[in-house]
Amino acid sequence: MKKIIIGENIVKSFGVDNEQHNVLDGVSVAINEGEFVSIMGPSGSGKSTLMYAISGMDGINSGKVSFDGSDLSAFSEKELADLRRTKMGFIFQQPTLLKNLNILDNIILPSMRDNRKNVAKITERARALMTKIGIGELEKRDITQVSGGQLQRAGICRALMNNPKIIFGDEPTGALNSKSAQEIMDIISEINTEGTTVLLVTHDPKIAARTERILFMGDGNIVSEIRFQKFTGTDIDDRMNKVMVKMREIGI
Ligand code: ADP
Ligand code: MG
Repeated sequence: MKKIIIGENIVKSFGVDNEQHNVLDGVSVAINEGEFVSIMGPSGSGKSTLMYAISGMDGINSGKVSFDGSDLSAFSEKELADLRRTKMGFIFQQPTLLKNLNILDNIILPSMRDNRKNVAKITERARALMTKIGIGELEKRDITQVSGGQLQRAGICRALMNNPKIIFGDEPTGALNSKSAQEIMDIISEINTEGTTVLLVTHDPKIAARTERILFMGDGNIVSEIRFQKFTGTDIDDRMNKVMVKMREIGI
């Protein structure tokens, strides 16, 4: 199985009161191409920091991160930004959309920065994605005139514009009610089924249970892991129970 991400012995520290504290304390992790992985763990255990480290969004103190066969330490800031823009998509808890632009313009904005000449093509792709993701009729809406779930769908469309190899989601359903959260997971699962690797941070056992591997973090390292078959929609209760047993075991 080809690996899209290999992290070896990643150490990331932040200074607190003149003392360095290892937020990532020698983490090694590998993600296969096409895999659907989630990260769980107590608040402050380093989940977001790990996601930023392996996506090249944030530097590390020691260790090594390879993405798609390239060692990220060899990349300049500009090359890292280019890599993120061309091969990665990011979804956050609150999509960072601009208030003075409608939904469509928000979705196409990052692509426009790259390629102003192809407005028609970019718009066509955005419209196709919006239709696929269920917000086709909302393109002219202001972002204050749609629901949280619709806003997150727009965030997903924006993340998919460059046809990324991997989607990183930092608690992408964290601000949604459970029905909207499951709908967003339906969309993310479909994106994964079509071949995109997905890595999600989540607190929600029902979300994690739909992924095929769950990494559990505790205090700066991966302390446990669960593997499942790809989710087909049938055994959610059984999977959720396994996740919750593990959560209790490691004290989440
Ligand atoms: P999680 O996502 O698991 O809740 P984070 O990765 O956000 O945790 O943070 C892990 C730890 O690192 C926390 O103790 C947090 O306070 C600390 N931390 C994260 N980012 C910074 C930063 N930029 N400066 C200082 N400390 C940070
Ligand atoms: Mg976090």
